[in-house]
Amino acid sequence: MSEYLAFYQGEFVKEDSIKISIRSKAFNYGLGCFEGIRAYWNEEKKQLYVFRLKEHYERLLQSCKALNINIPFTIDQLCNATVELLKRNNFKTTVYIRPVAYKSSENLSPSLYDDDNSFLIYCQPLERFIEKEAFRVCISSWRRISDNMIPARTKPTGGYLNSALASLEAALNGYDEAIFLTEDGKVCEGPGENIFIYKNGKLITPPASDNILEGITRDMVMKIAKNDLNIEVVERSISRTELYAADEVFFTGTAMEVAPVIEVDRRIVGNGKPGEVSLKIREYLMNAAMGNIEKYIYMCTPVY
Ligand code: PMP
Repeated sequence: MSEYLAFYQGEFVKEDSIKISIRSKAFNYGLGCFEGIRAYWNEEKKQLYVFRLKEHYERLLQSCKALNINIPFTIDQLCNATVELLKRNNFKTTVYIRPVAYKSSENLSPSLYDDDNSFLIYCQPLERFIEKEAFRVCISSWRRISDNMIPARTKPTGGYLNSALASLEAALNGYDEAIFLTEDGKVCEGPGENIFIYKNGKLITPPASDNILEGITRDMVMKIAKNDLNIEVVERSISRTELYAADEVFFTGTAMEVAPVIEVDRRIVGNGKPGEVSLKIREYLMNAAMGNIEKYIYMCTPVY
């Protein structure tokens, strides 16, 4: 049961009133794509700021294009609908926003060709995604789907089975989260987050060509490290043992924000505590997202 309003097919309606057919291709075959966006409540300014709203919708439309899901909205219309939805829900707390574009036709084939496209946005309060200060992770025995299987620069609904299998394996084996390798054995990303290592004063993260999702948080962390914290950032492939030998490891993502990793495959990372650099980056990122850093305020869309 949800008490919130959602945006469905161009209208603001009670989320609970939306009915989706059990025959829909989104449900049967995962033919859809989505985004995950956050809006941060700034108590001092009594303002709700949506962080990097436009970039999320640019990525959604990129996903839609790759999957042939045509939705009748421009980026500006999607941004406006999101702001209006948050306003109508009268949120005064940090919120997670989930737009989904999907194939709603009901015939039996798993076809992306049909022109039966639907779009909705739902949202909910979300302070912390996972109540953990630090993560103990394992390398998954599942490899990350590569770009020629399911396009890596999209957020495809069906592709998250790959993520879910890795997270399940990690949980069953007593870990908090998994790290994927690419098919050729390079460190890729987490099931729903990008990864960084810090070693000898440099921040290193896998390049887009290693089948990662080009995370918006990843991009922000690289900006902050370079421009504000004077840390060199290198995008290059990372090998498995580099994770074990790193001074610090952390995940980044809209839901996860910056999450320090303190153990990989039972090897302690650094001194076994959340790293100093990881925490500094997290603090800076949170301040930027909350609308507290003047030079980044243009990335924060005010709702009220
Ligand atoms: N990789 C994957 C597979 C993800 O699902 C996400 C979450 N969107 C990320 C990385 C992080 O991306 P972002 O920072 O844009 O949320």
